[in-house]
Amino acid sequence: MSEPKLIYFDNNATTMTSPEVVEAMLPFFGQRYGNASSMYPFGGEVARELRNAREKVAAFLGCEPRELIFTSCGTESDNTAIWSALRTQPDRKHFVTSRVEHPAILSNLPLLRKQGYSVTEIGVDENGQILWDQYITALTPDTALASFLWANNETGVIFPIEKMAAAAAERGILFHTDAVQAAGKIPIDVSKTKIDFLAVSGHKFHAPKGVGLLYVRRGLKYTPFMLGGHQESGRRGGTENIPYIVGIGRAAELALTNLIDENIRVRALRDRLEKGLTSAISYTRVNGGSEDRVPNTTNISFEYIEGEAILLHLAAKGVCASSGSACTSGSLEPSHVLRAMGVPFTAAHGSIRLSLSIHNTEAEVDEVIRIFPPIIAKLRAMSPFWQGDGPAPENGMLTCETGACQVCA
Ligand code: PLP
Repeated sequence: MSEPKLIYFDNNATTMTSPEVVEAMLPFFGQRYGNASSMYPFGGEVARELRNAREKVAAFLGCEPRELIFTSCGTESDNTAIWSALRTQPDRKHFVTSRVEHPAILSNLPLLRKQGYSVTEIGVDENGQILWDQYITALTPDTALASFLWANNETGVIFPIEKMAAAAAERGILFHTDAVQAAGKIPIDVSKTKIDFLAVSGHKFHAPKGVGLLYVRRGLKYTPFMLGGHQESGRRGGTENIPYIVGIGRAAELALTNLIDENIRVRALRDRLEKGLTSAISYTRVNGGSEDRVPNTTNISFEYIEGEAILLHLAAKGVCASSGSACTSGSLEPSHVLRAMGVPFTAAHGSIRLSLSIHNTEAEVDEVIRIFPPIIAKLRAMSPFWQGDGPAPENGMLTCETGACQVCA
């Protein structure tokens, strides 16, 4: 039997490297292998390409080329921003973030606490939107950094980052945004904002994995995360990864021209998919489905079944998607993002994230709308929490079976 055709709806996990990007990178793996720091022309020509890439990315983000540092990924950019902001202000001992951040931010919190920082994690409402009053109250003279993602990786919900950065700046507080899921999906012009640090990852907008960016506002005190040579004006040691930097430069250039397509065509595809699935299948809910959302993402709960089971059935049909649950210690723990939004247990467990890109088509969307209903019907027929065409009267899934997950513990 032939393999089903791949339908890739997991573009928030990673994207295909565009053929134009690959083409731009190839010479730098081959004949143009010089070191950008070398004095002779063979290196100097490579240094020129490094400058070109920096200019392209600066145009993409609305900043000056010298405000950019090339890194290895979004995680490195996030970590660099946090630790630089804290080290340059040793007298401030408070860090503010949200409960719905990516692990690239949240994994720093235990270490921060261990080092004597107090941490405030701001909650979100049922739409995934930041609790504004909580945010404002959390900003104190002791706050060293406020760090918030621009667009949520699981739901696509967009935080009002410009307004949040302005509120921090008014109080003399540095502001970092993890823009990994925003770049290439919504317009970004840092020059019009009070953002101090901004993190981006190449592989989320059709550059390869292994290259990222950190914007650091001009004039800001900064300490490097990677100590080494004088590369990146002494702000990140290590010989520059020229092929990948050329790749992210080309991807930034393409993303800028594709923004309209992303916001009109991809949004229409996403809306068609969302409407198609929620109208064909009962007991569904769109998590964070308000207007303040990136155009490519939908997070849908199919109640009374497990997201992982849906994913396996989808994978068998060639469809790539993801769920917010993490299988830990034998119990399926619902996503921290959906929990923070107060999504009921029965719905959080059956949540699926579908994230599209400019490379997807209407035919793919229609195929997924066709594939889904029998999968859900089959899984519900096997579910102890489902009876006939609705939830079972004694719905055991309102609490989890093991009692080990964070909802029940
Ligand atoms: N921040 C967000 C919001 C993300 O979605 C991701 C990746 O999924 C990251 C940070 C980490 O990026 P990278 O994979 O480049 O380290």
